[in-house]
Amino acid sequence: MAFEGLTERLQNAMSKLRRKGKISETDVREAMREIRLALLEADVNFGVVKDFVKTVRERAIGSEVLESLTPAQQIVKIVDEELTKVMGEEATALNKSPHIPTIIMMVGLQGAGKTTTAGKLAYRLKENDQARPLFIAADVYRPAAIEQLQVVAQQVGAPVFELGTDVDPREIVRQGLAQAVENKNDYVIIDTAGRLQIDEKLMQELADIKELAQPSEILLTVDAMTGQNAVNVAESFNQQLDITGVVLTKLDGDTRGGAALSIRAVTGKPIKFTGQGEKLTDLDVFHPDRMADRILG
Ligand code: GDP
Repeated sequence: MAFEGLTERLQNAMSKLRRKGKISETDVREAMREIRLALLEADVNFGVVKDFVKTVRERAIGSEVLESLTPAQQIVKIVDEELTKVMGEEATALNKSPHIPTIIMMVGLQGAGKTTTAGKLAYRLKENDQARPLFIAADVYRPAAIEQLQVVAQQVGAPVFELGTDVDPREIVRQGLAQAVENKNDYVIIDTAGRLQIDEKLMQELADIKELAQPSEILLTVDAMTGQNAVNVAESFNQQLDITGVVLTKLDGDTRGGAALSIRAVTGKPIKFTGQGEKLTDLDVFHPDRMADRILG
């Protein structure tokens, strides 16, 4: 289960404090050492851990906490609040264009769950907003990618604009957008090419697509199972494309938690959704407070 190790270690640190009744500054420092190790072991970014522990320590050794009747409980509350803060405080809604279509550009490395997430998102928009999305198949490097998008689109019940694999992705996007305008689609979801790793040609292509499509939303899909690598990927995509949000996939897996806790603080960009499985319905809005509660167990 996701966050299992982290939850267990945080709970241990907290229950040690609870057993003490009255708590000294030394007890707090000891607990902070344990929290620091727990976070590092969960693969949370080093800088994020440092700032987090410093903030919690400063708040926890304040006299109101230590002299309160329930110091351990107060510290749990502080940890909960700071976990929430580090993940972005509030849920962040999908950006919407004032005129149709709202254009969503999906980016990410191959295998992160981009196409699956595009399908989940379209499904969600159809269910909640009765939207009429159009997919644009702009991944021309893997022939199977178009087919995969078509399978997903069929499940969702939304059309795909595609021109095969021999046309430049920029041209595909240009024509796809023209079709969306003609058909009055209210959403366009562009499935772009993923690579095994970030390369310049891919980034330039994505930058060109961004320039011509002017999307309201550039959603980066990252795989929570890849920990710090997901954070590094998010940082470089953000530097190059100024992304608007992140979808953290595979949170149903055995992830340690590092990506969920680091991405917002490192990139300044919100996690908007999480993927919790392979089905179309397995997409949740990311609520930092609920995630903090889940991590604390
Ligand atoms: P893409 O290459 O980025 O387009 O990735 P895909 O959408 O093809 O997904 C890669 C694999 O991850 C597929 O087997 C998906 O079913 C799976 N996948 C995607 N999102 C999730 C998720 O949230 N949870 C789980 N368990 N699997 C997922």
